[in-house]
Amino acid sequence: SDMSKMPMRVLVTGGSGLVGKAIEHVVKNEGGKLEGEEWIFLSSKDGDLVDIAQTRAIFEKHRPTHVIHLAAKVGGLYLHMKENLYFLRDNLRINDNVLQTAHEMDVSKVVSCLSSCIFPDKTEYPIDESMIHNGPPHDSNYGYSHAKRMIDVQNRAYFQQHGRRYTAVIPTNVFGPYDNFNIENGHVLSALMNKTYKAKKEGTSVTVCGSGNPRRQFTFSLDLGRLIIWVLREYKEIDPIILSVGEEDEVSIKEVEDMIASALEFTGEIHFDTMLGDGQLKKTASNAKLRSYLPDFTFTPLKEALKMTCDWFVANYDAART
Ligand code: NDP
Repeated sequence: SDMSKMPMRVLVTGGSGLVGKAIEHVVKNEGGKLEGEEWIFLSSKDGDLVDIAQTRAIFEKHRPTHVIHLAAKVGGLYLHMKENLYFLRDNLRINDNVLQTAHEMDVSKVVSCLSSCIFPDKTEYPIDESMIHNGPPHDSNYGYSHAKRMIDVQNRAYFQQHGRRYTAVIPTNVFGPYDNFNIENGHVLSALMNKTYKAKKEGTSVTVCGSGNPRRQFTFSLDLGRLIIWVLREYKEIDPIILSVGEEDEVSIKEVEDMIASALEFTGEIHFDTMLGDGQLKKTASNAKLRSYLPDFTFTPLKEALKMTCDWFVANYDAART
C-alpha cells in the first residue's frame, strides 16, 4: 500500500495549550480536517512526555502518521531565571522522547515548535531562520533556549541519518483564547488584558511595567494554527520557518495597551512604571521566507484579533488560566 495516499492520523502534543487549542479550532470549525483524517489532541493528563515509557505508550495507542509537537515546559521570566537546569533537562527529554519515538514508529512528518526568544541575544535585525545558532541566547532563559535549539539540530540529524522529514516552526509572541492570563507569569499581552479588565472592574488606573516603548510582533493564535497546518501539509524543508506577522506590523507595548483598553472599554488612566526594566527594545524577526511561500496569506488585523481575545477572556473569565 502507498502510505502517502493514506489519510493522516495527526497526534498533537500540547494540544490543550494556547497553540494547540487554536489548531483544534481550525481543524474542527474551519474545514482544516480532510476526509478520513483523524486528529488527536493531547494534554499532560494523557501522559508525561518527560517519561519515555509514557511517551511510547501514547504513540502505541494512537499510531500517528504525523505529529505536531507543541508540548513544552514553559514558565514566567523569574521561574526560568531560577530554574534553568530544570527547563533545560525536561525540555531536552520531552523533545528527544517525542522525536525518537516518532522515528521508531515510522511517523513520516513531525512539525515541532521553536520560539523567537531562543535567538542569539546579540544580533542584527531583522533576525531570520539562518541565525538561530549564531551566538548564545539571552541569559535569563538559556536552559529553555538551548533545549529548543537542539530540536533543529536533531531534525537535521534525523534527515541525514534516516531521511526523516522532521522540521520546526518559529512563532513570535503568540496570543489568543486559552492563553495564560496570569499577571505575573503570563505573556505580556494577556497579562495586560487581565490587568486592564481588573482595573475596569475595580475602577482603578492601570500601571504598565516599563516605558511602553519596546516593540514586538504579536501573532494571533488562530493565524498561527492555520499556518502550522499548512506547514504540516505543504512545507518540505527540514530547515525551520518563522511564522509571524511582518516587520511592518511590529507595535509598541503602549500601542497595544491602548488597543486593549479600547477593546475592553476601559476609560481610566494608564501609567507607565519606568522604574521597571524594559527588556530588549525590539527583537524584529523577518517573515520573508513565509512570504516567499505564501505571498497572499492575510493575518487577522491586530485590533480585530485583540478584540476577539478580550471578548473570549471576559466570557470565559472563570475557566481561563489567570
Ligand atoms: P502552553 O503553555 O499554552 O501549553 C503547553 C502545552 O504543553 C499544554 O498542552 C501542556 O499540557 C503540555 N505539556 C507541558 N508539559 C508537558 C509534559 N511534561 N507532558 C505532556 N504535555 C505537557 O503553550 P503554548 O501553546 O503557548 O506553546 C506551544 C508551543 O509553542 C511551545 O513549544 C512553546 O515553546 C512554543 N511557543 C509559544 C509562544 C507563545 O508566545 N505562546 C511563542 C513561541 C513559541 P497541560 O495543559 O495538561 O498542562
